[in-house]
Amino acid sequence: MHSKNFNVTAIPAFTDNYIWLLTAGGAACAVVDPGDAEPVLAVLAERGLELRYILLTHHHPDHTGGVDELLEKYAARVFAPADPRIPFVQQSCKEGDRIVLAELEVEFQVLEVPAHTRTHIAFYGENALFCGDTLFSIGCGRLFEGSPEDMQQSLDKLAALPATTRIYCAHEYTQSNCAFALEIEPENARLRARAAEVNRLRAADKSTLPSTLADELAANPFMRTREKSVLETVRKIDPKAMPGSSAMAVIRAWKDRF
Ligand SMILES: [Zn+2]
Repeated sequence: MHSKNFNVTAIPAFTDNYIWLLTAGGAACAVVDPGDAEPVLAVLAERGLELRYILLTHHHPDHTGGVDELLEKYAARVFAPADPRIPFVQQSCKEGDRIVLAELEVEFQVLEVPAHTRTHIAFYGENALFCGDTLFSIGCGRLFEGSPEDMQQSLDKLAALPATTRIYCAHEYTQSNCAFALEIEPENARLRARAAEVNRLRAADKSTLPSTLADELAANPFMRTREKSVLETVRKIDPKAMPGSSAMAVIRAWKDRF
């Protein structure tokens, strides 16, 4: 199943969230992580769209807070992880599931990516990844319910997707993430180029997303925990740090204080 007219638009919400709007040329649409109903309802009305599907990556209120109100207005089908903290799910999703958004002629593969939360999932299809708060551009989510090992495994899973995959994460954190990443890899040319591009985009009040998986593999320190240049910096903080989850633990703890 492949949609010729698949299109993704950002609906900004709160101070730095993005609710992703998925369309395919007709009136039917889907949204990912609608933390607030109001901006979604405004865009649907303006564009004459009918909400048919709601995809949720995790239970946090800034990703789910608008669902009740959207369901009052639209009979949308809700896809989300099985988690008692998400009470309104019609179809719970687990690793390897394929979910079909028939009216958009789109199919997504479900990836379990625990770390930010225990039941966090991502949706992959149409060369696009909706990864919530697990992977950010040049960063990753905080470890609220998981370990550095969990985050390493989850990011390794995402790293295995095609390099051209477009990364639709849920927050506009890229500029501050770049400032932190440059502390770790000041000589990384791809990171420096991305940081310059991000500064230009933000100065013009534009979104830095989507990025591509290739960009993240080249410049995101959380996806580079086995690279020599990253380990050199990490070992200035913890001389015993090892490639992978050990380096992940050091970088994540540092970022939490940054
Ligand atoms: Zn979250």
